[in-house]
Amino acid sequence: MEVWQHTLRQALVDPAELAERFDVAVAPLQEVAQRYPMRISRYYFDLIEAPGDAVWRQCVPDLRELTDPTLSPDPLDEGRLSPVPAVVHRYPDRVLLLAGSDCATYCRFCTRKRKLGCSSMKVSEAELHAGIDYVADHSEVRDVLLSGGDPLLLEDDQLEAILLRLSAIPHVEMVRIGSRLPVTLPERITDNLCKLLRRFPPLYLNTHFNHPRELTPQAAAACNKLVDAGVVLGNQTVLLRGVNDSAVTLARLWRGLLRLRVRPYYLHHMDLVRGTGHFRTRIETGLGILQELRGPLSGMALPHYVIDSPGGRGKIPLLPESILRLGEQALLRAPGGETIEFPNH
Ligand SMILES: *Cc1c(COP(=O)(O)O)cnc(C)c1O
Ligand code: SF4
Repeated sequence: MEVWQHTLRQALVDPAELAERFDVAVAPLQEVAQRYPMRISRYYFDLIEAPGDAVWRQCVPDLRELTDPTLSPDPLDEGRLSPVPAVVHRYPDRVLLLAGSDCATYCRFCTRKRKLGCSSMKVSEAELHAGIDYVADHSEVRDVLLSGGDPLLLEDDQLEAILLRLSAIPHVEMVRIGSRLPVTLPERITDNLCKLLRRFPPLYLNTHFNHPRELTPQAAAACNKLVDAGVVLGNQTVLLRGVNDSAVTLARLWRGLLRLRVRPYYLHHMDLVRGTGHFRTRIETGLGILQELRGPLSGMALPHYVIDSPGGRGKIPLLPESILRLGEQALLRAPGGETIEFPNH
């Protein structure tokens, strides 16, 4: 077993383990974890400085998860867009291939929260290969995003098998990997992994830093190795109330990422997922932050602010021309021209 697999086995899964270091009431957190499982890698747990800080809030269960009135467990309606179980095909030329079935740390704000730690997240080897067959049969697909779950939790030889098959499909021009492991399990970014990834250019990896406290020497080393292996790094941040919803915090994060050769790509507005309502900000918060930082920060440091429209109608860039109305019910215009209401409170 590799070192990272061994350390992953020591992840915290019972809120009682939090009491080793912090003075917290365990029973209510256990109640939450029964509904939405907890998993925190040792490395990520060690980044917590105090209960309620920006790292804590991202990974420790919160009672508000159980009382959130948000309606939909699957607002993006990914089920409807799945021609085969391992594929989500929403845009003509690019697909998500759900290659990973688990994560090193379960983010409390995750859009796929309802599936984390459940068997419904598992994609079998056969389903995965049926997904690759689908890509091979659809010549309009030029860009395959490995997603999940976290694809880098696959073992090197499984990942190699997927990349070999995809690279043999003539119309697939590039592969992207979505992985939070540089943030939550940097020890996974081994020399062997980098040697493997180096063989499959052009390979893009979008990772997921949300707070400058996550920019540790270990995370920096992981990013550095990936870039040195020719992988192009981008970052997706989720705008989270009480975690990173200020211009000062995001400026530090995005400048810090550029120093690591990671280009900020998207700032995601929170999806309407049940159990995550306490993280949601208003759209005005994100717009205000970007407006404040445009100028003081280089365009290199500024991501696109996007919202995933409910019902699987795609990402809407939050630009003046797409915002028809703000207020308690925002009215947005999707790229196709369709107007969409979005609860904004
Ligand atoms: C976000 C997303 C993509 C990729 O979109 P880009 O804007 O190209 O990064 C592809 N498929 C689905 C279903 C997505 O949600
Ligand atoms: S790493 Fe991504 S998929 Fe996994 S729990 Fe976090 S947000 Fe969800």
